[in-house]
Amino acid sequence: MLLLFLLVFMMTACGQDVANQNGSGNKRGGQDKIKIGFSVSDLTLERWQHDRDIFVKQAEKLGAEVLVQSANGDSEKQLSQIQNMLSQGIDVLVIVPVNTDALSPVVEQAKREGVKVLAYDRLIMNADVDAYVSFDNVRVGEMQAEYLVKKVPKGNYFLLGGSPTDNNAKMFREGQMHILQPLIDKGDIKIVGDQWAKDWQASEAMRIMENALTANKNKIDAVVASNDSTAGGAIQALEAQGLAGKVAISGQDADLAAVQRIVEGTQSMTVYKPIKTIATKSAEVAVQLAKGEKIQADETVNNGKVDVPFIKLNPIMVDKDNVIDTVIKDGFHSYDDVYKNVPEDKHPPRP
Ligand code: BGC
Repeated sequence: MLLLFLLVFMMTACGQDVANQNGSGNKRGGQDKIKIGFSVSDLTLERWQHDRDIFVKQAEKLGAEVLVQSANGDSEKQLSQIQNMLSQGIDVLVIVPVNTDALSPVVEQAKREGVKVLAYDRLIMNADVDAYVSFDNVRVGEMQAEYLVKKVPKGNYFLLGGSPTDNNAKMFREGQMHILQPLIDKGDIKIVGDQWAKDWQASEAMRIMENALTANKNKIDAVVASNDSTAGGAIQALEAQGLAGKVAISGQDADLAAVQRIVEGTQSMTVYKPIKTIATKSAEVAVQLAKGEKIQADETVNNGKVDVPFIKLNPIMVDKDNVIDTVIKDGFHSYDDVYKNVPEDKHPPRP
């Protein structure tokens, strides 16, 4: 009887072991905790701090541990940080690339070592990436331009792009042009300048906007800013000329400072991309990849080397009229924070 019991016990134990090894797909056979390396482009920008916090919390909830490193916008630094993470025996790499074109060597190294790679928010080009979780970035650009052309159907437009090394920045521009081009062709809209802000830096955007205002003798009616950090820089330049609130300007990310500017009237809109959704989804996918499980994608996107399974999320347009029903309702920012600088008698009713 004891012998039979032992035999059954051993068989069950072996069976589990095999199941784990088959299922894990990682080089450590799934015996320890799943280890995720999260390489973030730049934690000095507000949105990525939310991404990190939610991602780590969700991954830990799923039983994984996460090593986080920020490259502070330095592409070389990101490469060495990723190599360092690989040497620490991770199962999955989750990367927000600084330069979407510069990561093929480390991705190849990861793949040789049996480490899965997830491109977080920004696609990694020309590399064997396992999954990509992001928003519909072309739609983001369309939303920005759609809003501006409704407010300013005719006039002088300045295009303020994001980081030239970020593939997303190009997709935002692609979407913006879908809306602007027909109006440019018609002669309603004139593009008076087009510049891209290095590393999405606000200081860079401010400098660009100052020069654009000077070059155009302040005759700019709308600024197509690709995100909130660059919008913030541009608005500082507009403020210095007494133009803040008079020039329509877009944004993206629903950063607290941007949402405050929207209710105060100096920024026209932003695009809210629920960070909770992308961070939670990415943590789930990272754990699935580590376990060797099949992931469910909405479509694939070719990155120059492979068709990458793409989990595509929806962005949301936000202006002063729907801020309560979107970012505040979602708990992304509180009512008190958003209306902090607005006089009490101008506050809308609390939700
Ligand atoms: C992201 C934006 C962000 C920008 C700067 C882009 O890749 O999609 O949400 O504002 O990077 O960090």
